[in-house]
Amino acid sequence: MLTKWQVPQAVTSHIAGSSATAQGQRLPIVYPGDGRIVSELCEADAHVVDMAVGAAREAFDHGPWRRMGTEERGIIMHRVAALVTAHAEELAWLECLNSGLPMARLQRIHMPRAAQNFTMFAEVASQAAGQVFTQDPRCLTMVTRHPVGVAALLSPWNAPVPLTSMKIAAAIAFGNSAVVKPSELTPLAVARLVQLIEEAGVPPGVVNLVNGRGPITGQALINHDGVDLVSFTGGTATGRAIASSAAARLVPVTMELGGKSANIIFASADLDRALDGALLGIFSNNGQQCLAGSRILVQRSIADDFIQRFLARTAALRIGDPMDPATELGPVISDAHRRHVLSFADNLGDDRLLIGGGAIDGPGFYLEPTVVLAASNASVRAQTEMFGPFATFILFDTEDEAIAIANDSRFGLAAYVWTDHLPTALRCSREIRAGVIWVNTPMMRELRAPFGGFKDSGMGREGAQDCLAFYTEPTTASFAMTQPPLQKLGGEG
Ligand code: NDP
Repeated sequence: MLTKWQVPQAVTSHIAGSSATAQGQRLPIVYPGDGRIVSELCEADAHVVDMAVGAAREAFDHGPWRRMGTEERGIIMHRVAALVTAHAEELAWLECLNSGLPMARLQRIHMPRAAQNFTMFAEVASQAAGQVFTQDPRCLTMVTRHPVGVAALLSPWNAPVPLTSMKIAAAIAFGNSAVVKPSELTPLAVARLVQLIEEAGVPPGVVNLVNGRGPITGQALINHDGVDLVSFTGGTATGRAIASSAAARLVPVTMELGGKSANIIFASADLDRALDGALLGIFSNNGQQCLAGSRILVQRSIADDFIQRFLARTAALRIGDPMDPATELGPVISDAHRRHVLSFADNLGDDRLLIGGGAIDGPGFYLEPTVVLAASNASVRAQTEMFGPFATFILFDTEDEAIAIANDSRFGLAAYVWTDHLPTALRCSREIRAGVIWVNTPMMRELRAPFGGFKDSGMGREGAQDCLAFYTEPTTASFAMTQPPLQKLGGEG
């Protein structure tokens, strides 16, 4: 394993520009590639969370950040992007060290995207304009938007830097302060990111970090009275619990939750590209993606050939140490998660295991990429998000049937459609109930467009205008332009 960069002996919380070590639990940080403990995390308890929220509040109420012009804030945001780019290799390495995501992917996709989040939101904030109304010509009504306050930003372990940086960039671009809570499994690169953000000139207290487990640190954060907004990315059950507790305090939330996205391969598709796309859709990011095309719906007339080719390519995947730039599929996040994913290869009933289904011996949390042909979309393997390198094939005959199967899910995050028949592509894009639909392309993540899900996949959207609406509140101010006559209450009749 490379040791070019320093791994902190202990990851602490970061409050108002300084590290804050809690008296709470110490938790091991593990490299999924070989199971070794690489550092430890000092868990933030309710007291530390209170300090972090207090620092964010102080920065918001009395600090310079929200009072700056968008030009000045924008310059600093661009500096953050430049620092992320300059430190991309280090961030990727730290991220790999606690997530086990392949280095090649972290360098090619995750870190550039983190930098883009800051430049993109700087631009959005600089272009955000108010409104003027003149319903009555004697009055001018001006609508201006203002930062909301202290945002609690909670993110999962499967793409820590891209997901957390999007939340931070969106929150601070409009002048808010933030308290960030990453997953306790993957704190390393996010902690470094927060340092870089301050190094770039974001004043201390604007971005604070609390580290620890969800039910301890996360819960203390979302229940804190000083939090004005919650942006959460994670599992549906956790999201539901957080949304209910935020609702009790009338705190707005956005929820980016799980998925079980249909990847529909029509006979009319360019099948070579559809094959590449289907493999990327389920096996990239070690199979741990909310967006995964984990239900692969194939038209029956081409199914035998397509599935055989998919299996041959699955068998040829380069599985190994995520630090190796040639690795295509690394380990999953933990042994417990590996057991969870593999449990879906047991008790198959009428479903048929086509490849994989076992753990890979040796250190690290590797498992065989697994493919099952489901007897129907009612199978637990077609309905449950497994969040691992586990593909479920389902066959269909007609376009109507494909759309019906795609919609027969409690989730509605994304859908993929592969066809060169334009009316089919257009109809699918209108009739599939999902927040994002990709036609003949896997995972085009347009950062400016709304991103989020229908049904159990979430509530609200992330993206340029959606974040502007979420992270700001409007004030409507009316000015008398002339001196319109006023009724004189209590005056002489
Ligand atoms: P979790 O819901 O378990 O956790 C997400 C975050 O919430 C973590 O920081 C976690 O902390 C924290 N958390 C957990 N419990 C609580 C609680 N009671 N109160 C406050 N915070 C809490 O999700 P996973 O980490 O397992 O991530 C995987 C899930 O995320 C999948 O379902 C996936 O689909 C979804 N996801 C959705 C995306 C989207 O954009 N729609 C993108 C990526 C993932 P900790 O981990 O430290 O316990």
